[in-house]
Formats: sequence, C-alpha cells, structure tokens
Amino acid sequence: MELTISRAETLKSRPEDSDLTFGTLFTDHMFNMDYNSEKGWHNPRIEPYTSIDMDPSTMVLHYGQAIFEGLKAYYTDTGNIQLFRPKENFKRFNRSARIMCIPEFDEDFALNALKKLLEIEKEWVPKTMGTSLYIRPTIIATDPFIGVRASHTYRFFIILSPVGAYYKEGFNPVKIWVTKDHVRAVRGGVGHVKTAGNYAASLLAGDKAQKAGYSQVLWLDGVEQKYVEEVGSMNIFFVIGDELVTPMLSGSILPGITRDSVIALAKEWGIKTTERKISINEVFDAHKNGTLKEVFGTGTAAVVSPVGVIKYGEDIITIGSGEVGQISNRFFAALSDIQYGKKEAPEGWIEKV
Ligand SMILES: *Cc1c(COP(=O)(O)O)cnc(C)c1O
Repeated sequence: MELTISRAETLKSRPEDSDLTFGTLFTDHMFNMDYNSEKGWHNPRIEPYTSIDMDPSTMVLHYGQAIFEGLKAYYTDTGNIQLFRPKENFKRFNRSARIMCIPEFDEDFALNALKKLLEIEKEWVPKTMGTSLYIRPTIIATDPFIGVRASHTYRFFIILSPVGAYYKEGFNPVKIWVTKDHVRAVRGGVGHVKTAGNYAASLLAGDKAQKAGYSQVLWLDGVEQKYVEEVGSMNIFFVIGDELVTPMLSGSILPGITRDSVIALAKEWGIKTTERKISINEVFDAHKNGTLKEVFGTGTAAVVSPVGVIKYGEDIITIGSGEVGQISNRFFAALSDIQYGKKEAPEGWIEKV
C-alpha cells in the first residue's frame, strides 16, 4: 500500500502557544484511508484537512459504530518531536476495532503514516512545556444504510490539534462526584473499548456533576454499584497507607496507557502497587481512619489529575490537606519529563518522529 501526499495550497495561521485551548483548532492536513470488502483498507493518503461529505443515512450517524484513540506529540528541548508509547495506542485501536466489528488495520503502517503526517505538520507542534499536539485517530462506519448490522465500508482518519497546557492555572486538585444514579458500563459490554457511545452514555451524569460544582464523575461498577471503576475519561488511583491501589481491569474499565505507565513506574520505584477491586466504602473508610493519603486520575490529556474532594451521597471528603500529594506530584513530574524528553524513558516508551 502506498501513502500518497497532497499538500494544502494555503496554510492556516497558527496561534501563540499561550492562546491555545483544547480541541477547537485543527492543522492543515489529515490522514485518510478507506475500507471496502473488495479492496480491504486502501487509498491511504495525507491531504488537506477537510470536512467529510456523508449521506444522512450513513451508519455511524445512527448506530455509533465508531472508535477512536487519543495520544500526543511533544516538542523536546533538543528540537525533536516525539510520541509517547504510540504502538500501545494503535494496538488498543485494533482491539477496539475487533470488538466493534470493524476490520483491523496494519498497525505499523498506521504509525508510519502518522509519523509522516507529523513531519508535514511539525510547525504545528507547540514548543512551550505543557503544550502538545493532540492526535485523534478515528474509524467510522460509512455505509449509507439504516438497517442494523456491521457496516461494509469504513473511513479511518487522523486529525491533529495543538493544545494548550492542561494546568494553565496550576496543578490543582479537582472535585469529583460519585454517581449513584448512573452507570457507565457493565461487564461483557464495551466499557473497556474506546468507542463513541460510551461517551454519549456518560454525558448526563457529567452534566449533573458540573451543575453541582464537580468537574468529573466517579463511576462505580454497573452491577452492584459498589466498586470504583474510573473517573470521567481517566483511570483512578488511591494511595492507602503505603499502598498504591487501582481498580483491576474488569472488562468495563478502559485500559489506559497512562495507567499502565504509572503502574510500571511505581514498580520501578519500589512502591507497593495493587490492581484489585476497591469499593467506594473502602475509600471512605480509609479516609475515616486516616490512611487515605492521595487520590489521582490518569489519562493522556491531563497525565495526572489530583483529586481533592470526593462526594458520595451526602458524604463529602477532602483528600489529605486538599493540596496535591507527593506521590501524585512525583508521577506527574516523571511522566511529563519522559514525554518532553527531559528524562530517560523506560525501553520502548518513546518514538521519535
Ligand atoms: C482514553 C481513556 C482513558 C485514559 O487512557 P489513556 O490511554 O491513559 O489516555 C481512561 N478512561 C476512558 C474512558 C478513556 O476513554
């Protein structure tokens, strides 16, 4: 398969790093590739960023057969552009594809196409510490058909968006709200898949949390509504006594690459780390007896997001002093330093463009 490249005739103007926000601005070019049953994945191309023309009956619009990924390109002090564990993203993307009845693609080919796209768009990678170029690979079902079945045709695209520093106002803890009214996913469902519908299903609870002054929802398991699953679009960690605890991958939790990286670093640092079931009652009990030291979320967007307050029913607890904990800080600093090339990464984590 040969990647063809057509360049944009006019380029967009790029904002200052300090004016960047999240997810509103896209670069000059995108990657596109199509699938049909005769040709398989074909016509991979980098071309000017443009809208997708589709029939109103297009399957993805009706039944949500769509998957995506999220990763970032970072600008280093030495003037290089690098990716953090991108092979893991494409591996997870193919896993999502299998589960959503979407045909798999060649991971090496996709990563090389992304690198080529990044070479073309290198001026779009912002240079200030904390900023990055967010990468959104997506696959959507494109058959113009409103019967329910897997589509026979698909579009794979990658778009790029320069994003500002997540912690513009400082590395501050967030308040999270444990929902009793909603569940995000159940075992046997698609909670462990990066698919569009999971987000649609989370919006109402998110909205309620926002209105109550909380920035994220903490989800409990879908069966007993007892065990902690994850928070918003992040995985969650607790420091209880001298143990780092995170919910085990039960089938309804998204296997985050940041989560996996935190676990790897914790092991390297000799921090006792356990992936297991953890109930919300255990968290509140640990707070009561003074052993709940820190809580933080992990994900590509924020890297580490310290949690300062948790509300569950009528109970509201403040974690530690309400300030960012030492361990949260250490993970944030270490991962940021690795991502921006300031610190040696474990074998295979960094991919230079
Ligand atoms: C993407 C995502 C995460 C975080 O995954 P990372 O690979 O660390 O970015 C966590 N939860 C959900 C629901 C997600 O979609």
